[in-house]
Amino acid sequence: MKFTTKWMAAYFPEYKGAADTEIPIHHIYTDTRQKTDRGLFVPLEGETFDGHSFLKSAINNGAVAAFWNKEKPIPEFVPTDFPLFLVDDTLIALQQLAHTFRTEINPKVIGVTGSNGKTTTKDFIASVLSQNYKTHKTKGNFNNHIGLPLTILSMDQTTEVLVLEMGMNHFGEIERLSFISEPDVAVITNIGESHIENLGSREGIAQAKTEILAGLKSNGKVIIDGDEPLLAPLHTREGVLSCGFDEKNKFVLSDCKMDDTGTRFTINQNINYMIQVPGNHNVKNASFAIIIGELLNMNQEHIQEGLSSIELTGMRLERITGKYGTTILNDAYNASPTSMKASIDVVKELPNFSRKILVLGDIFELGALSEMLHRSIADAISEPIDMVIAIGEEAPYIVEEMKKKELAIEAHSFKTKEEAVDILESTLSEETVILLKASRLMEFETLLEHLVEKE
Ligand code: ATP
Ligand code: MG
Repeated sequence: MKFTTKWMAAYFPEYKGAADTEIPIHHIYTDTRQKTDRGLFVPLEGETFDGHSFLKSAINNGAVAAFWNKEKPIPEFVPTDFPLFLVDDTLIALQQLAHTFRTEINPKVIGVTGSNGKTTTKDFIASVLSQNYKTHKTKGNFNNHIGLPLTILSMDQTTEVLVLEMGMNHFGEIERLSFISEPDVAVITNIGESHIENLGSREGIAQAKTEILAGLKSNGKVIIDGDEPLLAPLHTREGVLSCGFDEKNKFVLSDCKMDDTGTRFTINQNINYMIQVPGNHNVKNASFAIIIGELLNMNQEHIQEGLSSIELTGMRLERITGKYGTTILNDAYNASPTSMKASIDVVKELPNFSRKILVLGDIFELGALSEMLHRSIADAISEPIDMVIAIGEEAPYIVEEMKKKELAIEAHSFKTKEEAVDILESTLSEETVILLKASRLMEFETLLEHLVEKE
């Protein structure tokens, strides 16, 4: 049980029905297609739908109470004793309920924002902390103004640590998420170019991420990507811990060595760790988890066990064995210019491959800067990359720029994935590694059916 309707009635005193009796609530949910046992239904209004019209199916499917916008007439079918909490705005009510529940259970809350690496970092942190603490985390990518409160409300009463991913598209959104969750520790993984369309510039993006400090608990800690110049103003703030490859950071990362089993690295010259995923960017993501483990008094051995037992959410540099033993790095979950460059660096550093191929697709939501940012990807491309295949409307700018720079690397452009299949199939071999990287909407994972043996 999460709580009872009577507990809720103390915070939402305007209600109809038998809310002041102790009716237990086990789930909080917004989608009535979901069957629940003892659910609180939260009807949300979108542009094309109104959750209020689904109250009947909610009641049929196990709801025992609901929020209700007080402006709307209450339908006749609602039993007179069915608890309806009357509110001005059901979304805000959901967020208030989450905040109240967070305060009541009072776990250590870790909030993770940044342009890239939020989900990975969140997974690393939860994996480390769950070695010593009862930990609850954001599932998948449930990181917005609806997903975050639902994540808070899905934690168990006995939760000791709550790890929350915080995503955003506009100014003010992270601030809101921070006020709802009041983090004890906040992480800013990095500043990239995602959502630059809405935020104007990289400075705007940095400002929007910094909003995570708004709801931070007094004495809270903030761990930042210390290599990002735009976050430099934070370095001198109390409670800020910088982490990165630059020697001026409080936590300095060095000696990254990648092999087939993963990446080894060192923190502050003397502490060695290892992760089973490739890439310097993942070293940084993991180091945020190490620092938080130390803040919560964990020893090195337990922290390492946590890093080793991570289960990453899929399609983030996922290593797949394809036809003829080809290695495929499926990074098709999403892309931004920063993350595309980071993944290209990983391919460049991978040992044991004599043929390295990049399949790069369009990156969306870059607005007026899109062409320039696609061209900038060419800066990251150099030997030992052997071939680049660009697919889409904008990705071909990468190849154009490579030609301008007279790079001696084979490069092809195609409008569609289908056109690229023949050439891609011709590269398959045990010595080949292929990176698949593009924005979510390009659905690059569909290329796998041509690259991987059918079951
Ligand atoms: P979203 O905004 O979609 O929720 P996210 O911030 O949660 O993304 P992840 O899903 O963890 O990010 O990673 C997405 C991709 O970003 C990875 O596949 C990887 O290529 C890249 N990436 C991860 N961490 C970093 C980092 N610290 N710096 C740059 N790129 C990164
Ligand atoms: Mg994410």
